[in-house]
Amino acid sequence: MLKKFLVPRGTSDILPDEIFRWQEVESEVRNLLRVYGYKEIRTPIFEETDLFVRSMGQTSDVVQKQMLTLQSQKKSDADDIEIGGLSLRPEGTAPIVRSYIQNDLDKKESLSKLFYIGPMFRGERPQKGRLRQFHQIGVEAIGPGTSSPYLDAEVIALSVNILKVLDIKHYRLKINTLGALQDKENFSKFLRQKLKPNVSNLCEDCQKRFERNVFRILDCKNKTCKLVVDQLELGSDYLSEESRRYFAHVREALDSLNIEYEQSFKLVRGLDYYTHTVFEISDSSLGSQDALGAGGRYNNLVSDLGGPQVDSVGFALGMERILLAMPKETMVAKSAVNVYIIALDEISLKRAFQILNILRSHEISSDMTYRISSLKSQMRLADKVGARYVMILGENEIKKGVVTLKDMQTGTQREEKVDNLSKITQQLIEKQL
Ligand code: AMP
Repeated sequence: MLKKFLVPRGTSDILPDEIFRWQEVESEVRNLLRVYGYKEIRTPIFEETDLFVRSMGQTSDVVQKQMLTLQSQKKSDADDIEIGGLSLRPEGTAPIVRSYIQNDLDKKESLSKLFYIGPMFRGERPQKGRLRQFHQIGVEAIGPGTSSPYLDAEVIALSVNILKVLDIKHYRLKINTLGALQDKENFSKFLRQKLKPNVSNLCEDCQKRFERNVFRILDCKNKTCKLVVDQLELGSDYLSEESRRYFAHVREALDSLNIEYEQSFKLVRGLDYYTHTVFEISDSSLGSQDALGAGGRYNNLVSDLGGPQVDSVGFALGMERILLAMPKETMVAKSAVNVYIIALDEISLKRAFQILNILRSHEISSDMTYRISSLKSQMRLADKVGARYVMILGENEIKKGVVTLKDMQTGTQREEKVDNLSKITQQLIEKQL
């Protein structure tokens, strides 16, 4: 028995039956992003591993446990494939910042509003809504012109509005601020103080996180850690007056847009690069993997990666989870085929083949099977592809110089002269539009 290959664990094929949903989501989203002034950017799916280590932080879970790093292979001395030190991208922000710096985008525009849609890769344990290859829709607004709380609000509102245009209604938006770097430092000291009496009750990972990256403890899914975190009372005492004022502006701007949110002092985000505003959108209908998306401000990332001192704010939404959260009725398959041609014998097939190509040259989506079989079985095929019209050609039609045109919606049928094909085609084009 020959081995049958399967899709790698944690990845999936998007089959033709599903792809139209992806395309619909993408086209709605692209349209909204255009309205908000964001332009698409595409970067490679792998980058230097160090780019992710430096940006997300050595202690982040993604870097510690989930990076998919390529191994260099030496097939022969002369043929050294130099891929050591490269990793599949686990997220989109660092590659975009890398590209922003490399291409001197700061010199070209004061504010770069960029978006991406594409696959990301993380070596996670797969489960529903958690994959090793998944897709994100993300935006990054980068540049000296981004240091406005209105832009934080715009980015948050945009992420919410994406969900709204996709008919997702049951999401929850949580926001918080980490403040500037010094505030973050104060916050982590404050957290350590609060958690100190309970360190021994934390899971092994969190005991390490206590020193290395105490914020991550707030996100831990372990039951006992959750109990400890639930009992914590956190406020915003660690914030400077300036950071407090900035966040108040963000909230005011969100209020002015009627965006509903909850403020959660325990929302931190696990990556090093965030400063000031952070936010997360979840949908409880998704079960344990309920995060639809997240984002925030990262004012030091561009300079930390060797670029100019410019501010940035962005988010990423998970495409697979969006598709899971969307109501099913908004996802009716659109028929790709307008006219299905049925030929009942070899002579009709010759004529049918010509007609098919005339229709296609007029951009009328049309198809046929090139195998002669009964009318009934070909009608079944037409039904399967969801054809709007069927054109039947048999001995009778050839003799009379006509085609039988059946409207699959109304069930009515009539004969049309083949000479009139251009007229029929014109009518079909009008109906197609
Ligand atoms: P993160 O960068 O981890 O905040 O991810 C942003 C969004 O991407 C999440 O809210 C999810 O919707 C999605 N996402 C992250 N990791 C995965 C994964 N392993 N599988 C599917 N979706 C994911």
